[in-house]
Amino acid sequence: MLNVKTPFLIAILLLGVFSVCFANPVAYKWAMVTQPAKSADGAQSIGTYNAGCLSGAVAVPANGTGYQMMRLSRKRSYGHPDLKRFIEKLGQTVTAQHLGVLLIGDLGQPRGGPTLSGHRSHQTGLDVDIWFLLSPQAASRTLAINERETWSAPSVLAGKSDAIDYTQWSPANEKILEAAARQPEVDRIFVNPSIKRELCSRNTTHDWLRKIRPWWKHDDHFHVRLKCPKNNKDCQGQDPLPEGDGCNASLAWWFSEEARHPKIPSKPPKPQILPVLCDSVLKD
Ligand SMILES: [Zn+2]
Repeated sequence: MLNVKTPFLIAILLLGVFSVCFANPVAYKWAMVTQPAKSADGAQSIGTYNAGCLSGAVAVPANGTGYQMMRLSRKRSYGHPDLKRFIEKLGQTVTAQHLGVLLIGDLGQPRGGPTLSGHRSHQTGLDVDIWFLLSPQAASRTLAINERETWSAPSVLAGKSDAIDYTQWSPANEKILEAAARQPEVDRIFVNPSIKRELCSRNTTHDWLRKIRPWWKHDDHFHVRLKCPKNNKDCQGQDPLPEGDGCNASLAWWFSEEARHPKIPSKPPKPQILPVLCDSVLKD
């Protein structure tokens, strides 16, 4: 219904949209693309996880064995075919082991690139966020569109503390992380430091724990990052992981004052420059 306030509301809305676009005009271009770029030589991840793009992306279907995609309206369900295969394989493993159903958050945009909100990484189609929530409802039926938009991922930490909340965290979460980390194409998985500490305290075989890396937040989802796929010569991976399972002093640091309250840099970080190759991916 229109009333006197309507023009003001529209003006405020437009101002919001314009300020987002002007604040990050590069990300805006990537966010507006609706289709993947075609790639003659197979899918190609280009650049780094934080400054890159993707040609030949595929969309992960909204439903599959052992998984359901959330937040469909964000249109971040695109990735390298290796990432689609990984999600499908993990869904099948989770089903075979009766661990529940994975709720999948963001992958990347149709051509990757920077996003207007939410992530610095996820730019090359090799990153995916997976909720810790294992919902019996999601295991018994297909979720409605509005449920996928409105459900939120609960934290597995108790209150604002760094203690695990065992009403949210279960042995199934641990088994899912292990299954994901054991996949050879997985480079690393980011989780909250408290989750890493929990896993370190419980496991006697530590080989897969090396890939589980502590990082800020990540208490309601884990973030899987794949290695650069074979024959993706313009894809730049990260430095190799340090030796060992990471259940050492480097983990203890995450519970220090310095880690809990990191200094905010005086200058904002410089915007990342995308590889020149990404210009043609965007225009194709
Ligand atoms: Zn993520």
